[in-house]
Amino acid sequence: MGFRAIDVHAHLSTKPWNVTFSKLNAAMEKYYGFKTKELTEKEMAEEFIEAGVKGILIGMDAESNLGTPRVPNDYVAKLAKDYPDAFIGSFVCVDPWKGEMAIQEIDHCIRNLGMIGVKFQGIAQAFFPSDRRFYPIYEKCLELKVPVQFHMGTTGLGAGMPGGMRSHLKYTQPIPYLDDLAADFPDLTIIGCHYAWPWQNEMIAVLLHKANVYNELSGWSPKYFTPEFKKEVNGRLQDKFMFGSDYPVLSHARLIADWEQSGFKPEVLEKVFYKNAQRILNLKV
Ligand SMILES: [Zn+2]
Repeated sequence: MGFRAIDVHAHLSTKPWNVTFSKLNAAMEKYYGFKTKELTEKEMAEEFIEAGVKGILIGMDAESNLGTPRVPNDYVAKLAKDYPDAFIGSFVCVDPWKGEMAIQEIDHCIRNLGMIGVKFQGIAQAFFPSDRRFYPIYEKCLELKVPVQFHMGTTGLGAGMPGGMRSHLKYTQPIPYLDDLAADFPDLTIIGCHYAWPWQNEMIAVLLHKANVYNELSGWSPKYFTPEFKKEVNGRLQDKFMFGSDYPVLSHARLIADWEQSGFKPEVLEKVFYKNAQRILNLKV
């Protein structure tokens, strides 16, 4: 299939990902209605090529909070580089609680591995984006001129399990946490990940108010966006949103079809599918 979209939020379906998620996959499978698969790197790349999607790959490091091994950033960066027809880049994932080690890892991944941004998952990593103890990490991102992204809204992680497997949703509320960070770092490009349910209206407010904040809409079918939210995507915020899947939990074919059938203008779909990502992330496709 020809090129359809840039997927700015893709995880992995290979062994290192499944090792990290071995304890968490049962809840994720139930929440998203998918079955964990284990592909080779080549098979995974072929899924993206067949879907006409260029993925940006993201690993996971929440060792301090979850006690599960990380997905090494070196592995993620190499996978993205080995299959340029399937992938267009990769984001570093660091555990913010690792402090100086996290900062050094970001420096290494951006400078030596050519990764293009940094991703955090506040629920898995148990921290607030605006916690000042982590500001040196964002100073490093500013110095390297790379965007940072934060999981927003609920998660499939621990979903439906007793105590949500000891994870807290509060870490991913846009206001005040993402908004405070954006106010303190006006020159940092900040991306909220996912449809920020149940706080999607807060996300709209932050997007309207902070020029340096964007939102990618992975992990959620646009069929289930509220009418007010769809209106923003189609209207005044159309330059702020990007397509993503949260692969492997949702399939590209299904998501692209849902986007095409949810009442968005053709020129808006082009922006969401790739033009906004090209501009915001400085990508060459
Ligand atoms: Zn994710």
